[in-house]
Amino acid sequence: MRVVVVGAGLGGLGAALRLQGAGHDVTVVEAQPRPGGRAGQLRDAGYTWDTGPSLITMPWVLEETFAAAGLDLHAEVVLQRLDPFYRIRWAQEEEHLDFVGDRGRMREQLAKFSARDAAAFDGFLAAMKPIYEEGILDAGRRPFERARDLLAFTPRMVRLGAALPLWRSVCRHFEHPRVREAFSFHSLFIGGDPFRVPAIYGALVYLQFLDGVWYARGGVYSIVEALARALDVRCSTRVERIEHEHGAVTGVVLEGGERLRADVVVSNADVLRTHELTGRRAPLRPLTPTMSCYLLYLGTDRTFDTLAHHTLLVGTGYRDFIRDVTRRGRIAATFSTYVHAPARTEPGMAAPGGDSLCVLLPVPNQRRERIDWSERARPLRDALVADLETTFGLEDLGAATVVEREMTPADFERDLGAAWGNAFAVEPTLHQSAWFRQHNRDRKLRGLYFAGGGTHPGAGIPGVLLGAEVTTGLIARDFPAPPMSRRRRAASPI
Ligand SMILES: Cc1cc2nc3c(=O)[nH]c(=O)nc-3n(C[C@H](O)[C@H](O)[C@H](O)COP(=O)(O)OP(=O)(O)OC[C@H]3O[C@@H](n4cnc5c(N)ncnc54)[C@H](O)[C@@H]3O)c2cc1C
Repeated sequence: MRVVVVGAGLGGLGAALRLQGAGHDVTVVEAQPRPGGRAGQLRDAGYTWDTGPSLITMPWVLEETFAAAGLDLHAEVVLQRLDPFYRIRWAQEEEHLDFVGDRGRMREQLAKFSARDAAAFDGFLAAMKPIYEEGILDAGRRPFERARDLLAFTPRMVRLGAALPLWRSVCRHFEHPRVREAFSFHSLFIGGDPFRVPAIYGALVYLQFLDGVWYARGGVYSIVEALARALDVRCSTRVERIEHEHGAVTGVVLEGGERLRADVVVSNADVLRTHELTGRRAPLRPLTPTMSCYLLYLGTDRTFDTLAHHTLLVGTGYRDFIRDVTRRGRIAATFSTYVHAPARTEPGMAAPGGDSLCVLLPVPNQRRERIDWSERARPLRDALVADLETTFGLEDLGAATVVEREMTPADFERDLGAAWGNAFAVEPTLHQSAWFRQHNRDRKLRGLYFAGGGTHPGAGIPGVLLGAEVTTGLIARDFPAPPMSRRRRAASPI
């Protein structure tokens, strides 16, 4: 069977590899000059930065993706367990919190803030265990195509407290404001407002203690390269149209007019824009995209020792900050950022003696108010660097910077085709999850499927790769492989 995958993001590559492993003839078509999508890479003057994802969880999802095509992940990519997982620092506060894999040491970390919260840690993990097993492990690996799939799933999640807002759920377990922030921020990095996402996202913490937090040598981009190596990926080629006839897809038309015939098309393009590719009308009630990000990539001539490999820097007014970027559509006055500093673990990621820092600042998407990033980026960059220097003690960061790059919501929109410059696809609220999210199989066009952060189960490296498993499972059901004997006859020259 001929398959075209539109887009070489991690979800598209994961789906392509699984389909190729199942014996299909797969071509991936990517608009950008290199594969990876949000998981891109920048290199300059001896510095290497992952442009997007950097923190790897659920490594077995990667193992299974490679294994589905007969490949061994560990022969392709070197994974290294991180300890601590990440560090959290608060504006002008001395005490920081390291998330460490050993539960005893983690309790010691929490006891720095509250003895009661340290004692509550095991109870929190115990509460998250069934939510992880049923809400992420089970529900994340099966399609939610019928309302009855949702009806069967919801009562149990409600009983487990997984439908409560995450913040409220965390507050039930922990009392100290810093600890509450530390256990609720994770959803931000897949585009979810911790005060609104369902508590199911609390299980993101549980799964880190279960399987660890990992680093891929060379960065996440080494995973992209390993996936792409095994596939036929045509880069710098935009798909202009997904063609269909009598309710079934027939192929794609590329920029320039070339046609690729296909029985199945998997779209890894932004689900909020697929109607533009299929020539159908926009949905009456489109899903809401997530916030965006301003990303600053700095190459410095010295290291910054207060940073761990991953560090979350929480500014004052955390709640207001989140409200500004998610609801009010404005750049917040104080900054909460996440900094990736991989040279801690792999010195070769920076020029000798230096750091290659990626600073991620959540900012609004372009939907509510169209910000002119060609004007706003420079002052924001300066304010951000000044804030890192004064509020978080990264002294002389500006002066130590040798090379720098940036990425704004305008780049997400222009380069990756992200609707309104969203960074993490569709917002993961209760009303945009599971059955309410874009289904993995198109409801109307036979042969059209979806992979990536906008479809079920959602964004994140494991999210889009689990989604690829769901999508390819549906394709296997809809297009069963012919029995072995017929396949052999078809392949035989006589
Ligand atoms: C800044 C940032 C940090 C993140 N950090 C983490 C992290 O630490 N850990 C984690 O697990 N997750 C993280 N994530 C989330 C994770 O990166 C994403 O969810 C995931 O990479 C998205 O993959 P995707 O399959 O949706 O494809 P995308 O990355 O969205 O790629 C889609 C691809 O389709 C291509 N395309 C679109 N339209 C067309 C067309 N018409 N023709 C051809 N090609 C087309 C685009 O060019 C793009 O390459 C982060 C995301 C961001 C933005």
